[in-house]
Amino acid sequence: MIPERTLARLKNIVGVGNYLDSPEDKIAYSYDGTPLLRQLPEAILIPRSVAHISQILKLANEEKFSVVPRGSGSGLSGGSIPVENSVVLLTNHWNKILEIDRANLTAWVEPGVITGQIHSAVEEVGLFYPPDPGSSTICTIGGNVAENAGGLRGLKYGVTKNYVMGIEVVLPSGEVILTGGKSVKDVAGYNLKDFFVGSEGTLGVFTRILLKLLPKPDTSRTMLVYYDKISDAADSVSDIIASKITPAALEFLDRTTIKCVEEYAHLGLPTSIESLLMIEADGRSSVVDEDIATIRSICARHKALEIRIAVDDEDASKLRSARKVAFSALARVRPTTILEDATVPRSEVARMLDIINRIAASHALLFGNFGHAGDGNLHPTCLTDERDKNEIHRAEKAFDEIFNAAVNLGGTITGEHGTGLAKKQFFEKVAGPAQIDMMRKIKGVIDPNAVLNPGKIFSLSPKCEGTMPRTQEQIKKYLDMGAYS
Ligand SMILES: Cc1cc2nc3c(=O)[nH]c(=O)nc-3n(C[C@H](O)[C@H](O)[C@H](O)COP(=O)(O)OP(=O)(O)OC[C@H]3O[C@@H](n4cnc5c(N)ncnc54)[C@H](O)[C@@H]3O)c2cc1C
Repeated sequence: MIPERTLARLKNIVGVGNYLDSPEDKIAYSYDGTPLLRQLPEAILIPRSVAHISQILKLANEEKFSVVPRGSGSGLSGGSIPVENSVVLLTNHWNKILEIDRANLTAWVEPGVITGQIHSAVEEVGLFYPPDPGSSTICTIGGNVAENAGGLRGLKYGVTKNYVMGIEVVLPSGEVILTGGKSVKDVAGYNLKDFFVGSEGTLGVFTRILLKLLPKPDTSRTMLVYYDKISDAADSVSDIIASKITPAALEFLDRTTIKCVEEYAHLGLPTSIESLLMIEADGRSSVVDEDIATIRSICARHKALEIRIAVDDEDASKLRSARKVAFSALARVRPTTILEDATVPRSEVARMLDIINRIAASHALLFGNFGHAGDGNLHPTCLTDERDKNEIHRAEKAFDEIFNAAVNLGGTITGEHGTGLAKKQFFEKVAGPAQIDMMRKIKGVIDPNAVLNPGKIFSLSPKCEGTMPRTQEQIKKYLDMGAYS
């Protein structure tokens, strides 16, 4: 418990109106988008200045409590879930686009700006911010930088780290640094900027972010392709890439997901097919037309049942929504939705999907699969019910096997959602002791009192063993072992 006098000092720093501690507020900030993980914070802070954040972190070092940064709380690995003895530090109210610099193709933004609002604002002046997470209408750019978020355009345009040019960071000590800047080339010193991208709120709090922008592509075209067999869809993906076309999006849905999407969004999708691809090409119109024609003939060669090409922008957004609503559509089926992001080299996508389906069947579980076929980032999604302990236990075992299979195929346990709390057990296993030890040392130097989001990504001491801490009982066990302290 954080002592009352310390909480009073925190209230004093941010001001009474920016300090929340009612039971309802604590519950509201006790979870994020990750199922089965919850922990109440002791208070929620709404800092109004960089100085506030700095003072809060200095006090945390003095009084030894933890601070958990939080954007929109849409994370899927438990990054913004409070740890024991912690306060939640919100940055989602810092939501201004400070500057769009058309000469340098950059934008300074506050960390709480919603990613989709950055898309709209820069597109209005003919520019383009490519990273496009499925959650773009709700997630913040601060959360994206902390998770190094990917999304639908990752195949052609890369992920968040490819677009961060500078960050203002409040370090765990309370000191403030500005790393990076508008210079396209800058090799002075260690590359601290990239070090913070993907740090999952454990190494610093971002208060301003400088983004790289691109000229907006002249045009884009969207298509849906239906298949009877997943292997035909996978062969089409391989051939599209081999033909040296890089679509802006190359996404797939399996049969369960297609059925759920149709029941939810009524897009006219056939529910008897095994798989569909959502493909988008963008760039100069003559090139896009050529690419679409080539993609069309590749898909036809691989026994596509039907190819639907959008006729206008409205139609394109309808076709795109078949993929965009996948998570929401699956989440309606059962009370608990465990969405993961096991990732494999793209040549292994069909094999991995086959393995996932076999694992799901062997544990008698319902899975929907969708994801980024073009970059091998899959989202096996278990539709379950957290009240059924036996089913949750089977789901844990299934994901354990899925992650092992992904790693054995040369892949990884997370392509874009981060490690957080949900996957630290797996990460510790696949990264091995030397890497984890190095990360612990880095964390120890930057945050010697472990005040900032401790116990995320890896345990601070090598005490956590066993499987993923999904249930409250497991979390309690790990807390009792001092794993998060
Ligand atoms: C429907 C749905 C679809 C999704 N699709 C995608 C997708 O396609 N691609 C993808 O990558 N992710 C996806 N996600 C996951 C999630 O939206 C991303 O991880 C996103 O980046 C989280 O942003 P947030 O603002 O919600 O951050 P939060 O969940 O609040 O926090 C995430 C992490 O960032 C840290 N953090 C937040 N703000 C700051 C800050 N100012 N300074 C330092 N650290 C900070 C937190 O401590 C935490 O560790 C999806 C989630 C949902 C629910």
